[in-house]
Amino acid sequence: MARYTGPVCRLCRREGEKLFLKGDRCFTDRCSFERRGYAPGQHGQKRTKLSEFGVQMREKQKVKRVYGLLERPLRNLFEKSDKERGVTSEIFFRNLELRLDNVVYRMGFARSRNEAKQIVRHNHIIVNGKRCNIPSARMSVGDEVALAVVSQKQARFTLAADLFSKRAALPWFQVDHTKLTGKVTAEPTRSDIHMNVKERLIVELYNK
Ligand code: SF4
Repeated sequence: MARYTGPVCRLCRREGEKLFLKGDRCFTDRCSFERRGYAPGQHGQKRTKLSEFGVQMREKQKVKRVYGLLERPLRNLFEKSDKERGVTSEIFFRNLELRLDNVVYRMGFARSRNEAKQIVRHNHIIVNGKRCNIPSARMSVGDEVALAVVSQKQARFTLAADLFSKRAALPWFQVDHTKLTGKVTAEPTRSDIHMNVKERLIVELYNK
């Protein structure tokens, strides 16, 4: 599966804000954005005025980078969301949040979404009693997500409770950190996703 393999701190600097792509490091003073809070590259410190298209593009890129997706999967997800009944932007974010890799990250089983993707691909995750290694699998209300018993002995997973405590609790799932299991209890709404993004601009861009 294709994925971005370049330097991720560069992406935060490009978007002009912290996107928290690197896990623990993002909360320390080693964060690149804290030290060099301007766009990367030779002309990064120049002031540039963005066009309307440029502003829409930056908002879309931010979402793409936060969820660790490439252009085609993101567009496909948008087109699928556009066909569902309701407010497209709400459905789009709900579908992004309910991807298995994002659920694993939100539940605190991984430090970053990239790590969550790897954990899923490496068969560490059980969904409703069966192994699932598809990061884009869509979770539904009532689905149970757990770490495989054999994986729970690994040191990185025993730190899960500690990791989770650093994140804001979200109302749409429950997690039992002693058993390393979680359950989706509701569908996430846009207000549950604390992300500084103007979804209207993404809808406008994709509807051009
Ligand atoms: Fe972004 Fe985290 Fe890198 Fe800071 S450390 S620039 S928040 S990915």
